[in-house]
Amino acid sequence: MQDDSIFKKIITKKIPAHIVYQDEKVTAFKDIKPKAPVHILIIPNVFIASLNDINKKNKSILSHMFYVATDIAKRKKISQEGYRIIINCNKNGGQEINYLHMHLLGGKKLGSFF
Ligand code: 5GP
Repeated sequence: MQDDSIFKKIITKKIPAHIVYQDEKVTAFKDIKPKAPVHILIIPNVFIASLNDINKKNKSILSHMFYVATDIAKRKKISQEGYRIIINCNKNGGQEINYLHMHLLGGKKLGSFF
């Protein structure tokens, strides 16, 4: 299933995306339908379906994703004004793409969820 994923194809550059950062563990690229002036998705290079698939062996990927997101926020100059990081999980969480991804949103005052 992971080989068919849109996000896997973005990592392997089989479909185009505006990649803003890539290293041996993660890839970060602009969301195709941005909900804010800055809307970047950060994904692991190795397929993980959702937060439900985080385990003792792969859990360090989450801290790296957070680190990369905060670094991008600084580079995009949204860190002082502030930003939001979201990971949706499965149906009730609003996860549409079956590939773990973190949203980095900023560049405007974001609405409250609650
Ligand atoms: P989710 O709702 O699963 O948390 O978020 C999936 C996100 O992926 C959405 O914000 C959507 O706009 C984005 N997305 C879906 N397909 C593509 C694509 O082909 N390219 C890019 N760059 N983003 C996509």
